[in-house]
Amino acid sequence: MPAPTGESAGGSPPPDWHALSAAEVQRELDADPSGLSTGDAEERLQRYGPNVLREEERESRLQVFLRQFKSVLIVILIIAAAVSFFVGEALDAAAILIIVILNALLGYSQEWQAGEAIEALKKMLVQHAVVVRDGERREIDAAALVRGDLVLLDMGERVPADIYIVEATSLQVDEAPLTGESSPVDKTPGSLPVGTPLAERRNMAFAGTTVTNGHGRGFVVATGMQTEFGRIAGLSQRIADETTPLARQMDRLGRDLGLIALGIAALVVVVGLLQQRELLEMFLVGVSLAVAVIPEGLPAVVTLTLAIGIKTMMRRNCLIRHLPVSETLGAVSVICTDKTGTLTRNEMTVVRVRTADTEVAVTGAGYLPMGEFLVEERPIDPLADPGLRQFLRTVLLCNHATLALEEGGWRIFGTPTEGALVVAAEKAGLSRDDAPEPVKEFSFNSTRKRMTTVYREGEGNVAHVKGAPEVLLARSSRVFLGGSVVPLTDELRDALLAEIERYASQGLRVLGAACRPLPAGIEWTVDTVETDLVFLGLAGIVDPPRPEAAEAIRLCRSAGIDVIMITGDNPLTASTIARDLGLSSEGAMTGADLEAMTDDELKERLRTTKVLSRVTAEHKLRVIDILSRDREVIAMTGDGVNDAPALKKASIGIAMGIKGTDAAKESSDMVLVDDNFASIVAGVEEGRREYDNIARFTRYLLSSNVGELVAIVGALLLGLPLILIPVQILWINLVTDGLTALALGLEPAERDVMQRRPRDPQEAILTRNAYLVILILGIWLGLLTIYVFLGLYEVDLDRARTMAFTGLIVFELYNVLNFRSFRFPLHRIGFFSNPALLLAILGSLALQALVVYVPVFNLFLGTAPLTLADWGLLALLGLPVLLAGEVYKNLRLRLGGEAPASD
Ligand code: ATP
Repeated sequence: MPAPTGESAGGSPPPDWHALSAAEVQRELDADPSGLSTGDAEERLQRYGPNVLREEERESRLQVFLRQFKSVLIVILIIAAAVSFFVGEALDAAAILIIVILNALLGYSQEWQAGEAIEALKKMLVQHAVVVRDGERREIDAAALVRGDLVLLDMGERVPADIYIVEATSLQVDEAPLTGESSPVDKTPGSLPVGTPLAERRNMAFAGTTVTNGHGRGFVVATGMQTEFGRIAGLSQRIADETTPLARQMDRLGRDLGLIALGIAALVVVVGLLQQRELLEMFLVGVSLAVAVIPEGLPAVVTLTLAIGIKTMMRRNCLIRHLPVSETLGAVSVICTDKTGTLTRNEMTVVRVRTADTEVAVTGAGYLPMGEFLVEERPIDPLADPGLRQFLRTVLLCNHATLALEEGGWRIFGTPTEGALVVAAEKAGLSRDDAPEPVKEFSFNSTRKRMTTVYREGEGNVAHVKGAPEVLLARSSRVFLGGSVVPLTDELRDALLAEIERYASQGLRVLGAACRPLPAGIEWTVDTVETDLVFLGLAGIVDPPRPEAAEAIRLCRSAGIDVIMITGDNPLTASTIARDLGLSSEGAMTGADLEAMTDDELKERLRTTKVLSRVTAEHKLRVIDILSRDREVIAMTGDGVNDAPALKKASIGIAMGIKGTDAAKESSDMVLVDDNFASIVAGVEEGRREYDNIARFTRYLLSSNVGELVAIVGALLLGLPLILIPVQILWINLVTDGLTALALGLEPAERDVMQRRPRDPQEAILTRNAYLVILILGIWLGLLTIYVFLGLYEVDLDRARTMAFTGLIVFELYNVLNFRSFRFPLHRIGFFSNPALLLAILGSLALQALVVYVPVFNLFLGTAPLTLADWGLLALLGLPVLLAGEVYKNLRLRLGGEAPASD
C-alpha cells in the first residue's frame, strides 16, 4: 500500500538547514516560536502529505498464490497429473490439477489472512510526537507532523522527522541507524559551516534516530521521504517475517515424512511389481502413498493458528511484534518485572514531607492540586515554614512534568513521580509558571538516580537537585534547619537515614531534595555542581500496588513461573510492596550486592531471590545473561532507553505500552498495552493454550496420515486393488481434516493450564507417548478402512472406494474428539465447549455428502452414491474409536489421579 510521501512544495532544492541561523530557519519555514496554529498545520499537511515513509509494496495477491506451487509435493502431483493425462486418464489428471489449485487457493487465503493480521498490528504501532500547536503542548500522531512544526524531544523518544534544534539540554542522540555511529552524539543549537557532513551536524536531529539523553526542541524541516532517513534508506517499516522454532520443527517433520514416503513408495512399487501389477497402477499407488504420508494441511493450520493467536493476545493487552513470540510465551519460566507502573498503579501522590525541622502529612488524592498540609492533624501554611517552602520550591524547579486540566480531569505530562511533586507544590500554592528557564541541567537516569537544574537567582546561580535520598545525602555536607544552613552532623545524617528507612518500610517511594548556591567562577560539571549540597528533606510518595497483580503472581506460582521484581527503587520500599503482593522478600538484593558477587554466586542466589532493588540497566543485563545460562525462557520488562539491550537479550523482551520509550518498544518482542503485570500472565496463559492446541492438531493430523498409509499398504499386501486414489487422500488431508484441525486450534484452555510447570522449550512437540497414540489410532483407522473396502470391492469397486474414503473421514471425525484433550474425557471438558469444532464436524460431513451425491464430484473424485445403511454402518464402526479414548482417559484419571500434562 504505497502512501503519500510528503513531496516538497515548489521545485527548489531544500536549503542547507544546518548552515542557517535559527531566525533564518524560522523565516524559511514560515514557522513561529509558539508553534503552528491547527489550521495552518492542517493546510500544510494537505500540501506536503503525511510524515510517513513509503512502504515497501506488500507481496501481491498473485505472488502469494504462485508461491504456493513451490513445493516438492505439488511438483510430484503435477507430474502425476501429466503422466495420467498421457496414459489416457484425462479425468484423473484434471481431478489432481483441481485439487492442486484448491490447495494453492487454501494456502493463499490462509497466508493472506496472516499477512493482514500483521498489517493490522503495524498500524497499532503508530509513533507519537509532542508538538507545540496553538501555543500549547500536544501529543499527536507522528504522521501528522508538518514542516514548521515545533517539536519537543525527550529522552527515549524516536526523532519523528528531521529537526533543526533551537534548544537543547544535555541532548544526545543515537544516530546508528542513519550514520552507523555507535556512540551517542551531542546535539547543540547554533549554525554550522555549509557542507558539514551529516554525521557532524550537531544542530540537527534526524528522523529514525533516538534521543538517548536530555531533552530539547526544534523545528521540523523535512518529513516523510524528504528526511535524510527516507532519502538514503527508503527503508520500510516492515515487520520481518520470521520462522518460529515450532515452524522449524514442523519443517523438519515434513522433510522426515517426505523421506519416509519415498522409501515406502519405492518399497510398495517393488512389491507391487513382484505381484505383477500394472506399472501405471503402481505409479498411482506411489503417488497416493506420498500424498498420504505428508500432512499437507499442517503448515497452513499452524500459521493460521498463530495469526489468530496474535489477535487473541491483543485482546488481552499483549501486542505481539514477532510471530514466534506467542509460542515462546507459553514456555516462559521466569518473569523479571519492573515495579513502578507494572506491579503498582503508577498513580503517585506525595503523602508526607520530612524536613530537618518537621514532618507534615499532605492530604488529597490523585492529580487534583488541592489538599492540606497537616502537622499533628492540624493544617499549617506550608509556605510559612522556610524549610518546607524551600523543599517544595526545589522539587518544582527541578522538574519536567506539567499539570493540565483536561476534559477528563487533571492530567500530568511527564513522569508520575515528577507529577506527584508538582501537585504537592501546587497544593502549597507554588507554581512554575513564573519561573525562568534553567540555565543548565544534568538529567536523570537510572544509574545516576538524581537530576539537577541550575537557575539564575539574583546575582548568582543555584543548583536544585532531587533524586534517591541516600544518593543526595551522600553528596550533602549541609542541611537546611531552622531557616538557615547548618553543617550536616553525623547525628542528623543518621536521623535522616532512619527516616528514609521508616518511609520505605511503609512501602512509600522516597525522594530527596537538596540545593546549592554555586560558587562563582567554577566550571559546571556533574562533579563540581552536585557536591557539598544543602539537604532539604524527603517526600514520601504512595504508589499503590495493582490489585490484580497479587492474583497474577499467585497464578504464576501455581504455573511454576518464577517472578523476580527488578526495580530502581529503594530496597525497603521494594520489599514492602513485594510482600504486599505476595512475593517473598527473603534474600532481597541490591545492585551493590549484585556487583560484589561472582557469576556463580549470583546464579545461585537468583534461584531464591525475588526482589532486586537499586539496580541499573547494566545489572539487568547481567541478570538476564546469567539466568539464560540456566536455559530458562525469560520474559523481561523494560521501559527506558537503557533497557534496550536487556530487552533484546531476554527470550521475550516486553516493553511498556504507556510509559515505555520508543527505544524500548523497538527492541522488544512484545508491547504491554496497559503496562500491567497481570496482562503478561494472561499472555502466558494464552501462549500455553496455543501450544497445546498445536500439539493437539499435529497429532490428530498425523494419526490420520498413518490411517491412510496403513489402508493403502495393507490393501496392497492383501492383494486388493488401490483402496484410495490420490485425489481422495488430498481431499481428506486438505479439506475435511484441515477444517477440523483448524477448529482444534480454537480449543479453549484446559482448566489447569496455569497449574502445571512450564514446558521445556527443547522438548519436541511429538513425545514418545504421542507417537504411540498416533500409531495405535492410525493403525486402527487404517484397518477399519480396509474392512469396509473388503466387503464391497468385488461387487462394485467405485462404491467400495467411496465407502473406504467416506469411512476414513467419518472415523476421523470421531477421532478428532479424542484429541480435544490428552487427559480429560469429554464430560470433563464439556461436549459443547468448542462450538467451532462441532461446526467443523458438521461442515465436513456436509462436504462429504456433496462429494458422494453430486455427479460432477463423482466424476472427479471417483465416488459413487452411498445408501443410508452404508452411512449407518460407518457411523457404527467408528464409534468405538471415540469410546476407547474415553474409556482409557476415564480409567487413567481414576487409577492414576491427574495424569501429567505433556502426554
Ligand atoms: P522501576 O525500575 O520499578 O520502574 P523506579 O522508577 O524507581 O522503579 P528508576 O526509574 O530507575 O526506577 O529510578 C530510580 C530512583 O531514582 C527512584 O527510586 C528515585 O529515587 C529516583 N528518581 C526517579 N525518578 C526521578 C526523577 N525524575 N528525578 C530524580 N530522581 C528520580
